[in-house]
Amino acid sequence: FDWCSTNNLHGYAPICLAHEDFYIRRLYHRIQDCFNRPISSAPDSWVDVIERYSNDNNKTLKRTAKSTRCLNLGSYNYLGFGSFDEYCTPRVIESLKKFSPSTCSSRVDAGTTSVHAELEECVAKYVGKPAAIVTGMGFATNSVIIPVLIGKGGLIISDSLNHTSIVNGARGSGATIRVFQHNTPAHLERVLKEQIAEGQPRTHRPWKKIIVVVEGIYSMEGEICQLPEIVSVCKKYKAYVYLDEAHSIGAIGKTGRGVCELLGVDTADIDIMMGTFTKSFGSCGGYIAGSKELIQYLKYHCPAHLYATSISTPSAQQIISSIKVILGEDGSNRGAQKLARIRENSNFFRAELQKMGFEVLGDNDSPVMPIMLYNPAKIPAFSRECLRENVAVVVVGFPATPLLLARARICISASHSREDLIKALKVISKAGDLTGIKYFPAAPKKQ
Ligand code: PMP
Repeated sequence: FDWCSTNNLHGYAPICLAHEDFYIRRLYHRIQDCFNRPISSAPDSWVDVIERYSNDNNKTLKRTAKSTRCLNLGSYNYLGFGSFDEYCTPRVIESLKKFSPSTCSSRVDAGTTSVHAELEECVAKYVGKPAAIVTGMGFATNSVIIPVLIGKGGLIISDSLNHTSIVNGARGSGATIRVFQHNTPAHLERVLKEQIAEGQPRTHRPWKKIIVVVEGIYSMEGEICQLPEIVSVCKKYKAYVYLDEAHSIGAIGKTGRGVCELLGVDTADIDIMMGTFTKSFGSCGGYIAGSKELIQYLKYHCPAHLYATSISTPSAQQIISSIKVILGEDGSNRGAQKLARIRENSNFFRAELQKMGFEVLGDNDSPVMPIMLYNPAKIPAFSRECLRENVAVVVVGFPATPLLLARARICISASHSREDLIKALKVISKAGDLTGIKYFPAAPKKQ
C-alpha cells in the first residue's frame, strides 16, 4: 500500500467499511490505532502500550490486550513526577489512606481538607502571587473561570493558537472576541489600537474590561511566549494579562517558575496567572493565582469551586510534595537536577533533530518539540514506524491543527536518559527517511 492512500481513506471510511475489503479495513484500523491507545503502566520514560489489533495470518483483525514496552515521547511528564517518586509517592499513599480517593463534596461544603488549604498557599507562594484558587481540572480552569472574569460588554483578545479550553471559556463568556496573530506583540498592538486609544483611562472606553490571553509555552507549537513585549503592550493600553502556564510552569526557569522567571518578567505585571498540575507535577487539576481580591471574588463566584467536587486529596498532596522537591525543601537537590536535566535533554534533542534535517517547531529550552509531517497521510505512517521500533510518539492532525499542518509532537522529560534519547533519535531518523519528512537535509559536503 502507498501511504498516501490512507489520506483519502479517513474521509471515506464508511464507504471503505461497506466494501468489506480486508486491506482497506486494515488500513482504516491503522489510522484509528494512532489515537486512543491504552497504556498499562505509569507514564514514565518507558511505558507499556497496548496493541489493540493483531493481524491473524493477514486474514482477520482481532482485538488484543498485548502490551509492548515503549520509550515514551508522548506524555507531559516534564520533570518525571508522573511515576514513582521517593519523596512524593509515600506521602500520596499516606494521604490516600487518610482521606480516600475523593472528597465527595464541593469546596464550600465538606470538600476542603487541610491539604487543600495548604496547596493553595503553596501554589501562590511558588508562582509568586498573593493568593491562589485550585480546581479539579486544568481544562475547566480556563473554560469555567474566564466566563467568571469577563462577560457581555467585555473584550477578550486571544492569541490565534490558544488552547481549546481558552477558546471554550472565551466563547462561553459572552464577551466580544478578537484574535491576534500567534505570538506577535506588534499585531496585538494593532488589534488594541482598533478598539481604544493609547493610555485611555479604563473608565472612558467602550469596553467594560479588556483581557489579553496568552500561553507560556504553546502546546502544539513548542514556542515560548514573547511575554515581555506582550506585557509592555498591555500596560500601554491598560489591558489585563491572562497567562496560561500549563506547559511552562515547573518546566522552565531556574527554579521551574515558568516563563516569567525565564524571561525576567515581574509576576506583578501578570494579572491572572493560570496553570495546570497535569504536566510538571504529575497530578491533576489547575489553578488561578492573582491578587487576594481576585481570588476571593473567584471563590464566591466560580461554579467549579461552588458546585464541583474538589480535587482529590492524594492528587493535592502530590502537587505539594512535587513543589517541595522542586524547591529543594525535601532536603535533596533532586529538584535542581531535574530542572537542569530537562533543559539539557530538550536542547540536545532539538539540536539533533534539526541536524538530521527535520523541521522542528518551537524554541530552545522548550520540552515540547513538534516535528512537521504536513501531509495527514503521514500521521499513521510515522506513528506506526516509530511504534514498530518501540518508540511511542503522539501524532496530531486536524482538527487539533489545520488539515495540512499535521505533526508529531515530542515531549521530553527529565527522566529520559541520554541512551533513551539516542535510541529515540535513531528510530525517528529511520521513520523520517521512510516517510520523507526530512525537509531540510544537510547540504552535501564540499570536496
Ligand atoms: N491549557 C493548555 C495550554 C493546555 O495545553 C491544556 C491541555 N494540555 C490545558 C490547558 C488543559 O489542561 P488539563 O489537561 O490539565 O485539563
